[in-house]
Amino acid sequence: MPTTIQHFINGELVASRGARTTAVYNPATGEQTGTVGLASAQDVRAAAAAARKAFPTWANTPPLRRARILNRFLRILEDRIDELAQVITAEHGKVLSDAKGEIQRGMEVVEFATGAPQLLKGEVTENVGTGVDSHSLRQPLGVVAGITPFNFPAMVAMWMFPIALACGNTFILKPSERDPSASLILAKWLKEAGLPDGVFNVVHGDNEAVDAILSDANIVAVSFVGSTPVARYIHEMATRNGKRCQALGGAKNHMIIMPDADMDQAVDALMGAAYGAAGERCMAISVAVPIGDATADRLIEKLAPKVRALKIGPGTDPDAEMGPLVTKQHLDKVRGYIDIGVDEGANLIVDGRDFRRQGYEKGYFIGGTLFDYVTTDMKIYKEEIFGPVLAVARAKSYDEAAEMINAHEFGNGTAIFTRDGDAAREFAHQIQVGMIGINVPIPVPMAFHSFGGWKASLFGDHNMHGPEGIRFYTKLKTITTRWPTGIRSGAEFVMPTMS
Ligand code: NAD
Repeated sequence: MPTTIQHFINGELVASRGARTTAVYNPATGEQTGTVGLASAQDVRAAAAAARKAFPTWANTPPLRRARILNRFLRILEDRIDELAQVITAEHGKVLSDAKGEIQRGMEVVEFATGAPQLLKGEVTENVGTGVDSHSLRQPLGVVAGITPFNFPAMVAMWMFPIALACGNTFILKPSERDPSASLILAKWLKEAGLPDGVFNVVHGDNEAVDAILSDANIVAVSFVGSTPVARYIHEMATRNGKRCQALGGAKNHMIIMPDADMDQAVDALMGAAYGAAGERCMAISVAVPIGDATADRLIEKLAPKVRALKIGPGTDPDAEMGPLVTKQHLDKVRGYIDIGVDEGANLIVDGRDFRRQGYEKGYFIGGTLFDYVTTDMKIYKEEIFGPVLAVARAKSYDEAAEMINAHEFGNGTAIFTRDGDAAREFAHQIQVGMIGINVPIPVPMAFHSFGGWKASLFGDHNMHGPEGIRFYTKLKTITTRWPTGIRSGAEFVMPTMS
C-alpha cells in the first residue's frame, strides 16, 4: 500500500489542500511506494505565512544558539545516516554507499554553518573621521525558499538550508516530487534538534508550487538547483518579482586525457565519474576528450571492457556499482539519446539499452554505454543526457580540446588528466568553466569553498555554500557613529570629507 507523503508546515505534517497528487516509485522494482500531494498556491501561502511569523524571533536568536541547534542536528545525522540513506536509495535508486556519500557531503555544509558566530562577524574601522567610527554587519533576509532536483534529495537541500538558517532566515524547501521523503526526515530531525516551529518548512509539488513561491511577497530569496531551462525561468521570474536568486542549471562536463596521462588512473577516474550514480550527477563526466588517436585508442581499449563489466543492480545490493535510473520516463529518454547517437553516426562501442537484471525486470535499469567518434555537431554531444552514457570526442591537440570546452553551452565542471604542469596550469587559467579538476575527475568544492558553474550552468551572482552562501543569505549593513562630544555645532551642507 503506497504511503501518503505530506507537507511539513509550522512543525507539523499536514495534508495537501490541493487535489492533485503524483506517484512515487522504487526505481529498482518499478513498484509504487508513495503518493505525494502536490501543493496548491494555498499550501505555499500557508508555509510562507508560518515562516514569516517565525522569522523575527529566529533572526533575533543569538547566532551561537542557532549554531547549537545545527550541531545537535549534525549529531542526529551522524547517528542515523543509514536510515536516511535507505530512504534515498528506495526513491532515487542510487547505491547505498553513494547515498551515504551525499549525506556526508551535506553534513559538511552543516559543519560549516555551525561556525555562524565567526562567519557573521562584521568589520570595524575606528576613526573613519575624527571621532567617527564605522562598522558593518550582516543581517538575515527573511523567508527564503529552496527548490531542489531529484538527483541529490538530501545533499542539495543541505547546500542551502544549514547556511540560510545559521544566518537567521526561515526556510521553505520544495524538493523534487520524484523522491520527496528524504526532505521530511530532515525536517523531523531539525525539529528534534530544537529548531522552533515554522523556521523550516517543506512543501511538495511541481511547477504550480514553484510559481506560487515565485510570486509570494513573503518570500524574499530563492535558491534553485535543476535543469537549465527551469533555472533560466526561475531566475527570470524571481528577479522580476524583486527576489534575490541563485539558480544552478545543467551540465556537460568534459575530461581531457593528455598523451602523458597515467591511462589506468584516467580510466578508473572515468568509470566512477561517468557511471557512478548512473550518470545522474551534475558533475558527472559525460565527454572524454583524448588528445591524438594513439591516446584515444589506448583509452578505448582499457575502458570498453570495464564498462561491459560494470556491476549493475538495486541500490541495496552491496556489490552493485550502479543502480537504476530514477523513473521510467527518464529511462526512455536516456535510451532515446542512445538511438539518436547511433542515427547520428557515432560509433557505439558498448550498448546498455538491452540490460536486464534478473528478478528486477520492472526496474528502470540500463547498462553502461560508450560511444566513440562523437563530434561537436551531434545532439548527444550538445545536450545533457543525465544517464550512464559516455561520449568519446577525439581531439587532435590540447588547443582543439580547450576550444571545444569553451564553445560548449554549459560550464559546470571539467577535468584534465596529465603529468604536464604547464598544460595543467594553462587549462586552469583559461578554461571557461566554474569548477576545475587537475587529475581529479569530479572537482566538487568542499563545504567551506563555494559551488557553482559558469555560462548556462548558473544564473545569478552567487555560488552555493561556503563564503558565497553567507553572502547570498545575508544583507550587508554599515553603521557610522559619532557621539555628542565629537559633534561640532552648526549645519554642514557639503559632503563630509576628511580634508
Ligand atoms: P528539473 O529542472 O526537472 O527539476 C528541478 C526542480 O524544479 C524540481 O523541484 C521540480 O519540481 C521543479 N520543476 C521542474 N519543472 C519545472 C517547471 N517547468 N517549472 C517550475 N519548476 C519546475 O531537474 P531534475 O530532473 O530534478 O534534476 C536534474 C537536473 O538538475 C540536471 O539538469 C542536472 O544537471 C541539474 N543539477 C544541477 C546541479 C548544479 O549544481 N548545477 C546539481 C544537481 C542537479
